[in-house]
Amino acid sequence: MPLRQCHVFGLMANIVKQVESQLGQANFRHIQGIENLEEEGLKKLGYYRGFACPHGHLIRDSDGHWCYECAKKILSNVCGFDINYLHADYKHKYAKLWKLVKVGFPEDCWEMEIPGGGTPKRVCLPSYRSSYSKQKSENVNVHKALYQCAWGDVGALVVTRLCGNSKCANPLHMVSSFNRNYPPASVTPLEIDFKAEKLMLFNRQSQRESGIQPVIQQEFKNMITHPEYVKDRPEYNE
Ligand SMILES: [Zn+2]
Ligand SMILES: [Zn+2]
Repeated sequence: MPLRQCHVFGLMANIVKQVESQLGQANFRHIQGIENLEEEGLKKLGYYRGFACPHGHLIRDSDGHWCYECAKKILSNVCGFDINYLHADYKHKYAKLWKLVKVGFPEDCWEMEIPGGGTPKRVCLPSYRSSYSKQKSENVNVHKALYQCAWGDVGALVVTRLCGNSKCANPLHMVSSFNRNYPPASVTPLEIDFKAEKLMLFNRQSQRESGIQPVIQQEFKNMITHPEYVKDRPEYNE
């Protein structure tokens, strides 16, 4: 294992502990068949249907506003996305942002640069607040934005950059309190270019009741752990 990677992994455990002691650990509750629950049922369980996350999910935690499906993905240690399948309100904004990133090897820092020099600090994107604020978009920290694209939407929770490099955009160098393990070996899938075929598939699926999720699941090739397995892990609170 390269030295830098060891260093980053070593830091991870400490920083996750720090984040948790400051903010408390987000309390994920797995609910069988949650997608079929009405608002009243969700409310009793501490969830609600809010503004769509970048991945098109709707159910969020009432306190932390993190996305239920995204939390499940992060707890399963899955980091990856396909720009073509992101929700329509995020797709083009994220495509623009990823164009500034020099994607490198998984263990390296991927530095960002704005044309003409400098590093973007904040980016205008929708958030969980979009369902009740007048503006649909707000300024989000650039590293939190990238984290939410690659890992998942953590709502009001904090995202920390482990490598300390303020220019770094590598999602494997970022954690929220849902990250408990060593990160996966790579960001998979990592599709940052628009493909006409996939965009057409997205549009077609969006008009169907099943939506785009079955297509995304197929791309992840069963990487998302079955909830029963997640449940057995110590970081899973119920
Ligand atoms: Zn989500
Ligand atoms: Zn880095």
